[in-house]
Amino acid sequence: MLRVDPHTHSTRSDGTDAPGDVVGLARAAGLDVVGLTDHDTTAGWQEAAERVPGAGVALLRGVELSCSSRGVSAHLLAYLFRPDDMVLTSCMARIRDSRATRARRMVERLSADYPITWEQVLALAPAGGPVGRPHIADALVAAGAFPDRAAAFRAVLLPRSPYFVRHWAPDPVRAVGFVREAGGVPVLAHPRARERGRVLDEDVIADAADAGLFALERDHRAQDGAERAEVDRIARRLGLRVTGASDYHGRGKPNRLGENLTRESVFREIEAQGELPVIRP
Ligand code: AMP
Ligand code: FE
Ligand code: FE
Ligand code: ZN
Repeated sequence: MLRVDPHTHSTRSDGTDAPGDVVGLARAAGLDVVGLTDHDTTAGWQEAAERVPGAGVALLRGVELSCSSRGVSAHLLAYLFRPDDMVLTSCMARIRDSRATRARRMVERLSADYPITWEQVLALAPAGGPVGRPHIADALVAAGAFPDRAAAFRAVLLPRSPYFVRHWAPDPVRAVGFVREAGGVPVLAHPRARERGRVLDEDVIADAADAGLFALERDHRAQDGAERAEVDRIARRLGLRVTGASDYHGRGKPNRLGENLTRESVFREIEAQGELPVIRP
């Protein structure tokens, strides 16, 4: 059986390993296939692809689209879509723009109480890439305010914090349509991870299924046993597949490559439905 971990992040979003290094580390972790799914950008695809022959691991190209449904944040994994699709590229550009405005506002609020500046945060984020709360966390850690990202999140970066500001994001049901129109395969990431905040109504997931959603991510460390059972039940009811993944972020999170995997048969369906090829060594 192939070992497939289809959800990871690099320095092109909020991971701490370069895209090529994610591919190299995937081989070291005993994976056969790794999915690179940076937030709202395909900027890491090329560098990751270049490392495939040397690393001897196959690359599933994807992104994790930030979405929002009536104030509920959701993440949509999108695989093997045409990277030059105008609708998706402009959607991702708009998310990245809004992320920058939002991060700037959060830093303004935080700088009243903590010694951080917008310039410091920008320097920690990928050039032209998505700025996220993890980069604000890194600036707070560098300033000595917190020991690590997790502590900064708990204290000041969660939605209930007075420093929190929202960013624009597309509706997840519409985003599913965009991904299919671009030849891609949409999978809803960690749909019952209540530790992240409020989760999507089952009705919205049903609408996403009608719009072409392929699968729900079940095995993810942010979902406990009861939440995974719930994902299974929803998937069965709606005729969706289930996946599993590490959501690796390098040193930014404790998640280890390969800690959760996706069944080979489900990976092969993603490959068959996607317009782009999987890149093999
Ligand atoms: P944002 O993209 O700005 O909404 O921030 C969300 C990102 O923060 C997620 O993609 C995670 O990578 C990261 N994150 C969320 N919670 C934590 C945490 N407790 N510790 C470290 N990183 C986190
Ligand atoms: Fe992240
Ligand atoms: Fe996510
Ligand atoms: Zn992720």
